[in-house]
Amino acid sequence: MGQIHIVTSDITRLKVDVIVNAANTSLLGGGGVDGAIHRAAGGELLVYCRTLGGCPTGEARLTPGFNLPAQWIIHTVGPVWQDGEQEEPVLLYDCYQNSFRLAAEQGCRTIAFPAISTGVYGYPKREAAEVALHVMSNWIDGFDRITACCFSQADADLYHALCPACLFDE
Ligand code: ADP
Repeated sequence: MGQIHIVTSDITRLKVDVIVNAANTSLLGGGGVDGAIHRAAGGELLVYCRTLGGCPTGEARLTPGFNLPAQWIIHTVGPVWQDGEQEEPVLLYDCYQNSFRLAAEQGCRTIAFPAISTGVYGYPKREAAEVALHVMSNWIDGFDRITACCFSQADADLYHALCPACLFDE
């Protein structure tokens, strides 16, 4: 049985089997973590993504990691937060669930997630972290290490408050 690790890092630096990207439906890159992943993976990623034909919200697609230390990237499209009544929680749940399913199919044992939808897409951080941690705990038996990759200390503190049993990597 693996464990959930909370880290504060740029996700592109993590040496894991697969990192998850908070992409948009075009899969052709954007700002935030998506932009950082495309820059770090290199131009081959965009060429590959052009062949995929996009991705609906809540679903996930696999690509190689190209120049990243991670072997694979799973691109998932989080919901844009509106008022919480537009199926945002179900769609966010689907993002984590479909990403884990794809990673497991690929034989991955270590996986890192950013806080999907909590940047430009405006999902409230606490509610998003609750969804993330819920799905992560469901998959703990299938992985050696699940990383919740936070981009700020405040985000990491929030995850830790919600999951005191998670390992907190300083
Ligand atoms: P979304 O459009 O799904 O909201 P964003 O990229 O705007 O995606 O933000 C999602 C989360 O990713 C935010 O919490 C943001 O702080 C974080 N983030 C941005 N850049 C990075 C990065 N390089 N590594 C890890 N997390 C990042």
